[in-house]
Amino acid sequence: METPAVDDAPRAAALVNLTAVERNVATLRGRLRPGAVLCAVVKADGYGHGAAPVARAALAGGAEKLAVVTAGEATALRAAGVDAPLIVLGPLRGAEVAAVVATGAEPVISTDEEIDALEADGRPVAVHLKLDSGMGRLGERDPELALERCARVGASATLRLAGVMTHFATADVPGDAAFARQLETFARFAERARAAHPGIVVHAANSAATLAEPASHFDMVRTGVAIYGLDPFGADPAANGLEPALTWTSRLAAVKRIEGGGSVGYGRRWVAAAPTTIGTVAVGYADGVRRALGFAQPPTEVLVGGRRVPLAGTVSMDSFGVELPDDLPARPGDRVTLIGADGGERVTAEELAARLQTINYEIACGISARVPRVYHRDGAVVDPA
Ligand SMILES: *Cc1c(COP(=O)(O)O)cnc(C)c1O
Repeated sequence: METPAVDDAPRAAALVNLTAVERNVATLRGRLRPGAVLCAVVKADGYGHGAAPVARAALAGGAEKLAVVTAGEATALRAAGVDAPLIVLGPLRGAEVAAVVATGAEPVISTDEEIDALEADGRPVAVHLKLDSGMGRLGERDPELALERCARVGASATLRLAGVMTHFATADVPGDAAFARQLETFARFAERARAAHPGIVVHAANSAATLAEPASHFDMVRTGVAIYGLDPFGADPAANGLEPALTWTSRLAAVKRIEGGGSVGYGRRWVAAAPTTIGTVAVGYADGVRRALGFAQPPTEVLVGGRRVPLAGTVSMDSFGVELPDDLPARPGDRVTLIGADGGERVTAEELAARLQTINYEIACGISARVPRVYHRDGAVVDPA
């Protein structure tokens, strides 16, 4: 069968290179402390890439576990036929508890109420106890109380203590003192938990900690953003041997000449100083092209014909304008690259994030459901099922 090329992508597409995910996972595993395993975090629909296809690619690359946040995400992965060991980071309430137990996943808990709810469910379940070592979000703040809850889980007829964990607030800040304090607090707690519960899995590191601090690897790392080839430090992913899996493309819907004084887009915020060729790109803020990109200074750029071209005017719901140089022979239907490479030029999610004063995570998660995900292996389109 002829595999179509990714160049055939429609009006808009998020092209996801599953082979890149595999390679990123293998690269990350190669940097782990001996004995540590990798849990691939595929929450938020795999950071916008598509949870099930990415999960399969991560497992093929050597991930031993998967993690999601919500009960719905756990149920969806199982429905897609992904039956690998799964952690649900939670929190979970009410009906979500039973839904997660039904998937056979391991929930993360920290409160007595969560233990009560799981015991009331009555089915056997393995859980991870979370210590809040400084993030100030979920998790038990007091190590003594956390150890008491570990003991309670250990003594339960239906619950089993699978692991203890924490989450870092500043792993992406090189040399940060608060990170070192969190690591020390957690290491002390984990040592005591392990002494009382031999065989538990101790885990703490997100992508940034995985890359920056081997002492944070313990028995397992929970890498999210890095498996997608996005840099947890907001720099060039290539610096850590990571390869962006995502390319975001669209098409020129129209190409036209605007006379001097003519304008482009709502509010006439872009006015031609001289006759200019304008391309209309067939994606807008309903697709996840953030409207603020149209106001960025210096102007946001996308790739057309292997060249960087600046946005012209306000980003609309379904389209936005670009200023095309006179020597660029552009036609309707030509490919526009919002994230990815074209010719020798490249736009990264990190570059877009910097223009919006945000992080690459938000860029990837922000590509809306209206944009079809197209899966490929180094350029050959594949059926992800
Ligand atoms: C999202 C998340 C991760 C993964 O973080 P990255 O920075 O994407 O690697 C790990 N642990 C927890 C608890 C998370 O919520």
